[in-house]
Amino acid sequence: MALFAALSCVAALIWMFVRMRRPAAGQEFKAAAEAFDGDIVGNLFETAPIGYLEIDREGIVRRVNRLECKLRGVEESVMLGVHCAELISEVERERYREQIQRRMEGHTALVPYQREYVHEDGRNVTVEVHEQLLRNQSGWVVGMRMASIDVTERKFSEHAAYQNATELRALFQAFPDLFLRLDKSEAVLDANGGQRTDSFLRADKFLGRNLQDLLPAGALTQVREAQQKVRNSNALEIVEFGIEDLLGGQTYEMRLLPLNWDEWIAVVRNITARKANEQRLKDYALELEQKNEELEKALAVAREATRMKSRFLANMSHEIRTPMNGVLGMTDFLLGSGLNPEQQEYAESIKRSGDSLLALINDTLDLSRIEAGKLRLDSVDFSLRSTIAETTSMFALQARAKGLDFVSAIAPGLPEGAVGDPGRLRQVLTNLLGNAVKFTERGQVGLKAEIVSQMRDGIQLKFTVHDSVIGIPAGEQGRLFDTFTQVDESNTRKYGGTGLGLAISKQLAELLGGDIGLESEPGKGSRFWFTASFGKSARPEVAAPAATPSAKVEARVRPTLTPRVTAAKSQTGTAQRTEAQAPAQASPQHGSMRILLAEDNEINQRITLRLLQKLGLAADAVVNGREAVEALAKRKYDLVLMDCQMPDMDGFEATAVIRSREGNSHHLTICALTANAMEGDRERCLAAGMDDYISKPVGLEKLREALDRWIPGVGVAAAGR
Ligand code: ADP
Repeated sequence: MALFAALSCVAALIWMFVRMRRPAAGQEFKAAAEAFDGDIVGNLFETAPIGYLEIDREGIVRRVNRLECKLRGVEESVMLGVHCAELISEVERERYREQIQRRMEGHTALVPYQREYVHEDGRNVTVEVHEQLLRNQSGWVVGMRMASIDVTERKFSEHAAYQNATELRALFQAFPDLFLRLDKSEAVLDANGGQRTDSFLRADKFLGRNLQDLLPAGALTQVREAQQKVRNSNALEIVEFGIEDLLGGQTYEMRLLPLNWDEWIAVVRNITARKANEQRLKDYALELEQKNEELEKALAVAREATRMKSRFLANMSHEIRTPMNGVLGMTDFLLGSGLNPEQQEYAESIKRSGDSLLALINDTLDLSRIEAGKLRLDSVDFSLRSTIAETTSMFALQARAKGLDFVSAIAPGLPEGAVGDPGRLRQVLTNLLGNAVKFTERGQVGLKAEIVSQMRDGIQLKFTVHDSVIGIPAGEQGRLFDTFTQVDESNTRKYGGTGLGLAISKQLAELLGGDIGLESEPGKGSRFWFTASFGKSARPEVAAPAATPSAKVEARVRPTLTPRVTAAKSQTGTAQRTEAQAPAQASPQHGSMRILLAEDNEINQRITLRLLQKLGLAADAVVNGREAVEALAKRKYDLVLMDCQMPDMDGFEATAVIRSREGNSHHLTICALTANAMEGDRERCLAAGMDDYISKPVGLEKLREALDRWIPGVGVAAAGR
């Protein structure tokens, strides 16, 4: 019995011992956890911003706080009493179970780890788990507490930071620049980027070294100066320096900017190629500048040459016009002086040659004015219909004299008046009609005028001059409008001409806002056309002549008027012819009128005196400005015809003296009489105090017309003869 009792006692001790060694997991855990918690800790367990989950030694979840439920997205009731491995994904479950076991047994150190929970709504929560073994008072492990901190945000920023760093690294690699981070003592703390192909720009070469060992002394000084500036201004500074390497000299640029008080960022780049390009551009700009200077000089020389040419032309025209005045005037007197047939023929030849010469001078002058851009068009309200009629009637006469038919078809809707330059319109018409009559031996020539378009404030007209027979080969047509172009030189010998008429006509047509062209067939004839634009006239419309009810009906022109010829080519000829037919002597009709003529050329003096006599005007002549001034002091004159270029005192100076002497009480009419026909001459005369301007050569008609403006009736008196 005693043995039994003793055995029972031993058994009881052993059982107790075993119980002590292996207490029931749930009870032991509860006791230990409660002991651990206490009151304050119990509160903390629920309110701490940390998720808590406690398992017993078997891994069964015994306690969770609210935050833990929230972090896992699982209800407390689902977790309690379940093995903690059951709460994670199936694939990890077995491994986790083992790990927990090993940690409980103290085989594995407890290090924090991260775990990711995927919630039902797809949200991811990352936690950092800190594990802690729970022990009872005897130090036995009874379970484990897992504290979870939400690191979702942190992980996100870490990821973003990582992303940034990766991008930055990619950027460093994409740029050819070397990025350095330097400290105060110029030690390179960090080096990124750079170029493998550049022996200087290599990050590994810079990393951990000091700029003092890497840069030439000069460059280092520059860098330090720049750093000082950056410190003062807090703005970027750029330093350029050269490095000699195997490939020869290379140029680098270092951009310095402050990172913080102690650190700097330096961005180094190879700029050798850029520098070379800059130099090339500089050289190029210099070269351009030099070329421009040369061009400007050449332009100045060319301008001066043009000015000289114009002056030469003006002088030449003056010099030729003066004797031409003599030749033509005297020839006219000669022709009217009762010559025998042979002499008459010679004199007529002289006259024709003189006329051609004058036409050539006029054409040359016109062309030089147009080419110098100095031809200004008039803009006057003129009678369009009479301008056309007067010009055609003149050529109708010439055509008839040659045995040709002349037809003219003027569109009935053509306005009576227009605003533009009638003189230049007449000149183009005269050139084309002149050629048509000149080159046609038999058949018909004529003019058609039609409206191309009518706008609110203007009109565009088309004039077509047609002729028959001779025609122009297609190959020649293109260059006809160039200067000095003639199709057939034998024709020139036969018909005369300068080869300038069409060139001038083209320029004039363009100035008139139109164009010029031709259609021609050798042996059949030509149609030369041009267009011109005019402004709207204020003149009243008069009914179109009954003979031209429509543009298609061609009306024969029967000129009844004596043509008032103003076209340069035949101006003098016709005018002088009229004069030649007038009686050689005429007694003065304006008995009280007296004209003073100042003219140094003896022949011209005689001609003008004779013309004045024909106009019934008494006149005295002097040979220079001084004599004119003296003559005016001695006698009263009604008008002075003043040559401009005279020896001793010229016409401008004489006019100035006369004007200064007469004061305000009296005004003597002074008309310039000059061979100067260049642009601006008229203005110069008027500016000098003269009242009018008559260009040489002067025929009877021209003189009469001019004087009529100042001595009304002088025209009537002479026309009556
Ligand atoms: P010009 O008649 O003074 O020689 P133009 O410039 O007026 O100068 O004419 C140039 C050339 O064009 C003429 O020499 C002639 O060969 C040719 N030409 C002009 N008009 C006609 C025409 N109607 N018929 C034939 N040839 C013409």
